[in-house]
Amino acid sequence: MAKDSNKCSFCGRNRKDTNLLIAGIDAHICDYCISQANEILREEMDNKEEDSFEDIELLKPQEIKSYLDQYVIGQEQAKRVLSVAVYNHYKRVTQKSSDKDDIEIEKANGVMVGETGTGKTLMARTIARMLRVPFAIADATVLTEAGYVGEDVESILSRLLQAADYNVNAAQKGIVFIDEIDKIARKSDNPSITRDVSGEGVQQALLKLLEGATVSVPPQGGRKHPEQKMVQIDTTNILFIAGGAFDGIDKKIANRLRTNVIGYHSSETRKAVNKENLLQYIAPQDLRAYGLIPEIVGRLPVVTYLEPLSTAALKRILTEPKNSIIRQYTKLFEMDGIDLKFTDGALQFIVEKAIEFKLGARGLRSIVEAVVTDAMFELPSTGKEQQQLKVTKTYADEKIRKSNLNQLKVA
Ligand code: ADP
Repeated sequence: MAKDSNKCSFCGRNRKDTNLLIAGIDAHICDYCISQANEILREEMDNKEEDSFEDIELLKPQEIKSYLDQYVIGQEQAKRVLSVAVYNHYKRVTQKSSDKDDIEIEKANGVMVGETGTGKTLMARTIARMLRVPFAIADATVLTEAGYVGEDVESILSRLLQAADYNVNAAQKGIVFIDEIDKIARKSDNPSITRDVSGEGVQQALLKLLEGATVSVPPQGGRKHPEQKMVQIDTTNILFIAGGAFDGIDKKIANRLRTNVIGYHSSETRKAVNKENLLQYIAPQDLRAYGLIPEIVGRLPVVTYLEPLSTAALKRILTEPKNSIIRQYTKLFEMDGIDLKFTDGALQFIVEKAIEFKLGARGLRSIVEAVVTDAMFELPSTGKEQQQLKVTKTYADEKIRKSNLNQLKVA
């Protein structure tokens, strides 16, 4: 017998009580049932995802490093250390509960020590992109203890949740980069009368997140307040990578190594024990000497360093990465049918300017932008079919002189 074409076969509503009744082969479904079914489906899918990291492609450490090589120049040691850390982290989170009675692998967050602009954020971001997991950057300097002016540490998770499009399960697998962790180092060894609300207090608050805890997070960020709906986020499987310049940490390393950096040795010896050389010996106890509390240091067991970028490295950064600055501008010009070329002299000149302006890798983009702005303004309107722009050192010099970049120069 044919089904009643005026009724929803699922809830029995009459056609006139629905907004829409869709006909199938042998049944009908109304809009109410469709949205309800949709909700059930979403919940089921979410639950399924709960403990499964199957959608994360687990590459081997060497493959992770090869991926990083495409985007990050140099920093061999940091890449190796992080590749292993990331590999182990996702091995841990994909560990079957049946294996866990045996040996439960503890979470290993990491910390990268290196001057600003050497690729710390880039490294963390690239790892997140490779794994296709949500990624958030948090600036430790704006964090304060709950109740003080500034941001609560939970705001870090709000950001991650936003990056995950409010999908809690996805956020719980994400990566958080905590920048400038060195700025929340304890200000002095002596406990003082005034509370250190942006230093040690924040470290204590961060500890909870790093250890793995279920935290109430205001989804829109900002301060917690009673009327706000909170979302519970479990940080157990979130990978935290911290970064900081740790200015002057070389002295702590030197102290530990009993090496005198500023002693009365000849300048030759001093050169041999310079900062780059010392950073490679970085160890957790140096972070502690710098003012991170022992509990935080214990929760950041993977410690690595990034080297200052040399002229040669900066030049490679300009041209080599998959989405290097030069490749990006070449693409932009190509879209207008313009063939953009930089001579080697021009590239060298741009790098030297970045160093002169003390902008490091961060400045390369603004300098290249200043060099090609006039061309980007003029060439698309000339109406010529095939055009070419060859940027020479003289051309770059002239454009930089004309730009207001010189004002950026750090005295
Ligand atoms: P940090 O976090 O160490 O202060 P970033 O990772 O934010 O520095 O680097 C700033 C920019 O400089 C990056 O977006 C990238 O374009 C460039 N950069 C820095 N270091 C490297 C590197 N090692 N390889 C490639 N690009 C780099």
